[in-house]
Amino acid sequence: MMRNPLVDQRDVQFVLFELLKIDGLKQYQKFADQDKDMYEATIDLALKMAVEEVYSVNKEADKTGVKYDPETKKVMIPEGYKNALRKYNEAGFVGMIEDPEIGGMGMPGAVAMACSEIFTSASLSFTTYPGLSHGAAALIKNFGTEEQKKMYLEKMLTGQWGGTMCLTEPEAGSDVGNLKTKAIPQPDGTYLIQGQKIFITAGDNDFYENIIHPVLARIEGDPPGTKGISLFIVPKYRVKPDGSLGEHNDVICSGIEHKMGIHGSATCTLNFGDNGKCVGWLLGQPRQGMKIMFHMMNEARLDVALQGLSLSSAAYMHAVTYARNRIQGVHVTQMLNPEAPKVAIIEHPDVKRMLLWMKAYVEGMRMLNYYLAHNATLIEVLDGDAKKEAQGMVEILIPIAKAGCTDTAVLVTSEAIQVYGGYGYTSDYPVEQYMRDAKITQIYEGTNGIQSMDLTMRKILMNPEQYNYNIMKKRMAETIAKAKGIVEDKYIELVEKGIQKLDEVITMLKDQMAAGKFLHIFAACTPLQQAMFMLTLAWLHLWSLTLTIPKMKELVGDKKGEERDKFLADNEEAAYYSGRVLSSQFYLGAEFPKFFGRIDALLFNETAVIKASKDIFTGALLE
Ligand SMILES: Cc1cc2nc3c(=O)[nH]c(=O)nc-3n(C[C@H](O)[C@H](O)[C@H](O)COP(=O)(O)OP(=O)(O)OC[C@H]3O[C@@H](n4cnc5c(N)ncnc54)[C@H](O)[C@@H]3O)c2cc1C
Repeated sequence: MMRNPLVDQRDVQFVLFELLKIDGLKQYQKFADQDKDMYEATIDLALKMAVEEVYSVNKEADKTGVKYDPETKKVMIPEGYKNALRKYNEAGFVGMIEDPEIGGMGMPGAVAMACSEIFTSASLSFTTYPGLSHGAAALIKNFGTEEQKKMYLEKMLTGQWGGTMCLTEPEAGSDVGNLKTKAIPQPDGTYLIQGQKIFITAGDNDFYENIIHPVLARIEGDPPGTKGISLFIVPKYRVKPDGSLGEHNDVICSGIEHKMGIHGSATCTLNFGDNGKCVGWLLGQPRQGMKIMFHMMNEARLDVALQGLSLSSAAYMHAVTYARNRIQGVHVTQMLNPEAPKVAIIEHPDVKRMLLWMKAYVEGMRMLNYYLAHNATLIEVLDGDAKKEAQGMVEILIPIAKAGCTDTAVLVTSEAIQVYGGYGYTSDYPVEQYMRDAKITQIYEGTNGIQSMDLTMRKILMNPEQYNYNIMKKRMAETIAKAKGIVEDKYIELVEKGIQKLDEVITMLKDQMAAGKFLHIFAACTPLQQAMFMLTLAWLHLWSLTLTIPKMKELVGDKKGEERDKFLADNEEAAYYSGRVLSSQFYLGAEFPKFFGRIDALLFNETAVIKASKDIFTGALLE
């Protein structure tokens, strides 16, 4: 195992093989010829490539950013990315979870998630290119005709062609149903596309031979709102029947955004059909566009949750290295001794607290993201109730993971700067970039406000008999039962009490729903999501403790104090398990109690938000 600046590889192994027991997938036909060695070799390769090819160009890409030439309308991505993308594509990482017959590796979701974490922690902007190629290809795989699959899939999954997702317009951001892009039916069954999309990630660039845009548009005459939206495949260059490239399809990039972070990721304004020659091919059935796009959006939301984890991981790992090496001050027990030797800041209790806090969140988010990806795989291989339960977990956890991990990423990356002190605020060190890069993750792929509404309304209150929520509670109850006799009661009781308190809130919201008090509910969505994220991590940390406590006892025995510290210094495995026990205990004992404050705030049912008309926000300019 290699030490590296991005992710704790030992922890990746713990989550995959000890917590989720991914190698157990071998019992299913789809994974019968795979094993742990194969997964570990793939992760080793990802780590080597991520450090050598991607991390090494991350800073330069942040500095140079993406360039746009208004004359030629060309978009130039950082040079360093091109070499890295070629190697990434050759190694087959674009289609990791796809079947080998269509150009993929056929790996389980959680292993792909681990590799994505590694690459994203090396450079978030870099991964936006292959991430979108895969997302767009998966749409065609799931909803395209045989002809469309033949035409696009292999080239997209091998990284020869890129992909995007084109939803946003100036007046259709969160409100996608308000889009204006038109699709005009043609006698040959194709459509002429006319409109403008903004903020399109990887919308144009000088790496891919062709870029395949899934575009949401309204067929002329179709009803307004989301129900009237269809989805079209719109390639940058038309594709001839033999698969070679034809003429330019009248899609141009009319500008790029200059942003706070993710400078290496091209954020493009795309004009479709300025010259009336942009042809689109319907993907799936007319007026099913939103339903189909949701498929890609679910994958993309999970990708963004993972971005939150990855930036947090890289920030935490850098902070640990810095804290071990930065000498400042004396040990707290020697404060009054002017002769005391200076120590590394990692010896100071407040710095340890910051690091333990970051570690607890990073590990919690890693468990959550991998667990989600594993459940997505289980949906594919299971049947009946077990499949339905896995589906229920994915549905309820996606908005929790997307919003929770990205909100946390902003805090963890900020805390990493805090560990560095003044140096962290300068661009000499990478942590300030992580914080700038993290902010967008709270906004795109549906803002965290929108995620919270999705969680509260669609995934809980409108979900028949709260099936998703009950499955989640069932999983938590299973962990609690397992923890008894292994984990100290005080930690178990916290999680038990947490579930009871959350139940009180859900009952209150259900009553409000029955009484038609929708404003009360909408004012509570974000606090509810934040509380549920905290409880989800508490559950996962409790689960982790059921495994790490016995292992730690086995390795460390009853050593204490200096003897224990000395032993851990020479025994990496014992140090790993001891550290994981401490971070879980820290999360449960020092962080999770804040959950109860959030619950109290929800149950208090404050109505100030509901009473606040727009005119009480005085002082700002009136437009
Ligand atoms: C760097 C970058 C990359 C992007 N990549 C893509 C891409 O590849 N493809 C793509 O299609 N789009 C992309 N986007 C667009 C992104 O998804 C949108 O910016 C986002 O969905 C929010 O839309 P908006 O900016 O119009 O904000 P608005 O929708 O105007 O939202 C502003 C605020 O109001 C809140 N709000 C809005 N409506 C409601 C409501 N009904 N209830 C409660 N709160 C509400 C929001 O939560 C937010 O806080 C990208 C954006 C950026 C900045």
